[in-house]
Amino acid sequence: MTEPIINTQHNDVDEEILFTSLRAQNWAEFLGQDTIKKTLQIAIEAAKQRQETMDHALLYGPPGLGKTTLSHIIARELGVNIRVTSGTALTKTGDLAAILTNLEDGDVLFIDEIHRLSKAVEETLYPAMEDYALDIVIGKGPSARTVRIDLPKFTLIGATTRYGLLAGPFRDRFGLVQRLEFYPAENLQKIIANAAEKLEAKIGKDAALTIAKRSRGTPRIALKLFKRVRDYAQVENGGEINPATVDKALKMFAIDELGLDHNDRKFLIELINKHSGGPVGLSTIAATLHEDPGTIEEVIEPYLIQVGLLKRTNQGRVISSAAYEHLGLEYPKKK
Ligand code: ADP
Repeated sequence: MTEPIINTQHNDVDEEILFTSLRAQNWAEFLGQDTIKKTLQIAIEAAKQRQETMDHALLYGPPGLGKTTLSHIIARELGVNIRVTSGTALTKTGDLAAILTNLEDGDVLFIDEIHRLSKAVEETLYPAMEDYALDIVIGKGPSARTVRIDLPKFTLIGATTRYGLLAGPFRDRFGLVQRLEFYPAENLQKIIANAAEKLEAKIGKDAALTIAKRSRGTPRIALKLFKRVRDYAQVENGGEINPATVDKALKMFAIDELGLDHNDRKFLIELINKHSGGPVGLSTIAATLHEDPGTIEEVIEPYLIQVGLLKRTNQGRVISSAAYEHLGLEYPKKK
């Protein structure tokens, strides 16, 4: 029998629609991340008072922590339009030029996965960010010349899970650089409660907290698990979502007490079985798991490190004794 595994790192179309409908609309609904909130609120207020555009902002951190949501709130608070695109969609400098020239003064341009922009598109952005100008080359060969076009003033908000991949000069062009942190369970509990209210579903505080504690500190995962638990409760328990139902549902979805899913456990087990728990280098792990090193480093590992199951050392990654314990394995004596 195959396990009804939830892939907590990937959403299907239904889930994307649900998350968009549940998206926090304003500061009151956006819970936690207090320092970032405060920093952004000040930047927004200052820009409004001076009637200027807000500084360009770079938001980074693991997926599902609220980067897209924050960008929409920023635009709403600034009272401007937001234009949404991504590093994978903007493949040609011409596409970027078309977007930039169509913005209105003050607009927010949100580029998700900004680390995926090609060098050419990134470099076209430099004068746009600094001088609100586009340098366009007309013609070819010796007769080619550059023409500068003025652009509307805009705020670029870049989001990335891979901060390390952005070139220094690119990072330096953002006035605000903010790293989003994993959320404490109390925040996630409230996020689940708010979602339940919007969906007119009933969930007690304890049940919401049980889901929250297994959501890897990530709102998107909390909402995803809540949705699946709600379906489960509807079919198996007459719609009542209590801690026992949550427990049963999450067990069925192979989400353990720490919120680790199949992929997390596979990561730990492969490191233990094939590399004696480390130390082992990132590229070796990537080869073992057939996974992109960047995804491992910035998507899978941060939470495992946060909960003390993995350490990054100068010699490489090391699985902690807590991980062995969590997996019900004996910790080798020689360590
Ligand atoms: P990211 O862009 O970082 O991948 P999103 O902004 O798409 O994350 O957030 C995923 C989901 O989690 C959205 O439905 C969003 O409303 C919700 N969410 C994220 N952060 C918060 C928060 N701080 N408070 C309430 N809901 C949040």
